[in-house]
Amino acid sequence: MAETQEKPALLKPKFLQSLLGCCCGGQKLSHVNGDERSMMRALVKQKAAPGLEMVEREMPPIGENDVLIKVLRTGICGTDLHIESWDSWAQETLKTPIIPGHEFFGEVVQIGSRVHEVEVGQQVSGEGHIVCGLCRNCRAGRRQMCIRTLGVGVNRDGAFAEYIAIPESNVWVHHDAIDPDLGAIFDPFGNAVHTAMAFSLIGEDVLISGAGPIGLMSIAVARHLGARYIVVTDISEPRLELARSMGVDIALNVQKTRISESQKQLGMREGFDVGFEMSGHKTALPEMIDNLNHGGRVAMLGLPTESIDIDWSKVVTHMLTLKGIYGREMYETWTAMSSMLKSSELLRERISSVITDRLPASKWQEGFNIARAASSGKVVLDWTQL
Ligand SMILES: [Zn+2]
Ligand SMILES: [Zn+2]
Repeated sequence: MAETQEKPALLKPKFLQSLLGCCCGGQKLSHVNGDERSMMRALVKQKAAPGLEMVEREMPPIGENDVLIKVLRTGICGTDLHIESWDSWAQETLKTPIIPGHEFFGEVVQIGSRVHEVEVGQQVSGEGHIVCGLCRNCRAGRRQMCIRTLGVGVNRDGAFAEYIAIPESNVWVHHDAIDPDLGAIFDPFGNAVHTAMAFSLIGEDVLISGAGPIGLMSIAVARHLGARYIVVTDISEPRLELARSMGVDIALNVQKTRISESQKQLGMREGFDVGFEMSGHKTALPEMIDNLNHGGRVAMLGLPTESIDIDWSKVVTHMLTLKGIYGREMYETWTAMSSMLKSSELLRERISSVITDRLPASKWQEGFNIARAASSGKVVLDWTQL
């Protein structure tokens, strides 16, 4: 079994099956608008090799606690690029065949017999971490820290399809009208909000390393939450240009300029109060630490692919805090996302502007190529155009 699936081995098989979304107890046919459907179009990783294929697949089975959602839009995430290229992480983590994709917006078309709150016709997104509900953290209400988390589109079939079934508890209902494209990026927007809300930002100076889609969104959120100065770093000029439209004070190319220069330029005297490490690059955290004030706090979302050398004596003597950030808090981050978007037109505009490319799902390969080029913002696929 793949690495991330080893942890649930302690579970009883039947319970594990329900987490994995297998068909035990699930309904075989789906009733969509009165029609019985058994097949759908889906973008599938068929075998353990690079690439994906758009094929006919069986409709997902719906358990009694599940909700069937007609997918309208999906976002392409870095995770999906890893899965498509079949890198070492994907090889260790995934079992094929699998439908990837975890960032989506859609409409509820069918509910299981024990679904209480979610209703047919509602517009929804989904939390992509399916948790066990029984481990210590789950029972304490810290579900984002579940030790048996399974990822939608990683450990069980995901959203790159016409339909997806997920447990009701993972469905996020958009009670306020929302643009479908914006709804499709709630998952990465949630990463940005989770990071930005890790520490209080009111009146603080914030340093962000990495201006990919999540880094870009974190600029807009930090501004919304009351930061004083915000500096972002990257090495991609198009992304730095996007950052400038998100309300950043300085967007700095670390291939040309040192971060300490931005402190001088802004008239800062003591260093940044809060850092968001969004790049995972091994040179980002050391330079961030060099530019923090004593007592500085760092929220780390970027996943490093190699070990990082930092000055630990500085962490100790400057009393720094480093905090790992993964996913979204379930479901306080989701509540904060919806509330902030509802109350701020500026935030809504800025978060929407992170979507730079919209393509029909039939042109998924082109979408993946754009996302991989890393010179754009977010790429969204439209599943009503197949
Ligand atoms: Zn994602
Ligand atoms: Zn758990």
